[in-house]
Amino acid sequence: MSVPGDPQDGGPYPPPAGYGQSTVQFGSGYGQGTGYGAPPAPPRNGLGIAALVLGLLALVLSWTVIGGIVFGVLALIFGLLGRARAKRGESTNGGLSLAGVVLGVIGALIAVGLIAWGVYLLNAPAGQSYRRCVQRSGGDPVKIQQCVSDFGREVRGQPPATPPVTSQPAPASTPDHNAVYRADLHIPTVTCVLPTMGTTNRQLEAWVQASVTCLDNAWWPVLATAGLPFSRPGVRRFSGAAPDRACTGDVAIAYYCPADKVISVSPDGELDPIPDAHRAGRLLMTMAHEYGHHVQELSGITEASDRLQRAYPYRGPVWLQLSRRMELQANCFAGVAIAAMSGRGSVGAVELADAVSSIGGDDMEPGLPRDHGTAANNLKWFQTGLDAGRPAVCNTWLAAAGRVA
Ligand SMILES: [Zn+2]
Repeated sequence: MSVPGDPQDGGPYPPPAGYGQSTVQFGSGYGQGTGYGAPPAPPRNGLGIAALVLGLLALVLSWTVIGGIVFGVLALIFGLLGRARAKRGESTNGGLSLAGVVLGVIGALIAVGLIAWGVYLLNAPAGQSYRRCVQRSGGDPVKIQQCVSDFGREVRGQPPATPPVTSQPAPASTPDHNAVYRADLHIPTVTCVLPTMGTTNRQLEAWVQASVTCLDNAWWPVLATAGLPFSRPGVRRFSGAAPDRACTGDVAIAYYCPADKVISVSPDGELDPIPDAHRAGRLLMTMAHEYGHHVQELSGITEASDRLQRAYPYRGPVWLQLSRRMELQANCFAGVAIAAMSGRGSVGAVELADAVSSIGGDDMEPGLPRDHGTAANNLKWFQTGLDAGRPAVCNTWLAAAGRVA
């Protein structure tokens, strides 16, 4: 560590006397006889100044605890070294060193006192109820903030702002109640510019990433206005590996996994038999649908739906209907997003027609689990989102059974 104001500490030492010959040889400017008859060295006051600065920092930052301790200890070390230097007559500011020591010790003591106070409060009744409150929060930042606020009121002897949490769990939020259905939320206009779709990995990757950017631009303003979190989904290319049960989608085309918020897509597997001219619309539909699942995850709909589904046997009738409500909603969200882009940039009438014609359903192939809905219902929900351009119309959770068959 360099010491402010003390250039001598880190600077070159004058060569010892007797090496004059070699210094001449290297032209360093030190002549013969250096060290003999030179003027007395100036006072080396850097340590004292450093101690004072560190001591002041310890005092000012003592409320952060860590700042008080770190700077306090450093001030103590520099101050004691500075005092020793002053005693040897090498510096003239022993007083500053002492001031640094005193300030550093005070800063560190305040920090230690704060730790002791914190430990005392956490073991007091208010602290115990605070810890229970945080445990119950399940990591929800809003609930933790409420715990902090209640803790502060209890420490000050004020009644809690909200009724104390009872052992009864909070009513579970359900997928039909969500800020994303707010009536005033409209998808913005997005000019989606997509590269020409090639066939190499790099070209497909570039196209898929550009489509995610278009979907980001359609959805983030909606989520922000609704007060919901936003993050860009990841994209992974896959080749036939079966997704985890928590993921939604089709192993042959694409799926979305909420755990890591990644869209896995197999553009080549899906698109090989399809003429080039129709690829863009079809893949855009796939991406918009998987992104619909991402919106469900970001808004908390996925979590609420999972909570409902867990109460029923896997792939039983109720489980399958809940899955269809989820999938049809993702198709409706796809329609909302494509409404944002349709008729602009790279999304023209051809792409829209190809997107619509790619929509299928469980009833197109016998033997498929009925977890996505009929082709007619998939088309209806997509069209509903496309016509309205508002996610409020996509509340499949309130729809009659026939609309989610
Ligand atoms: Zn899906």
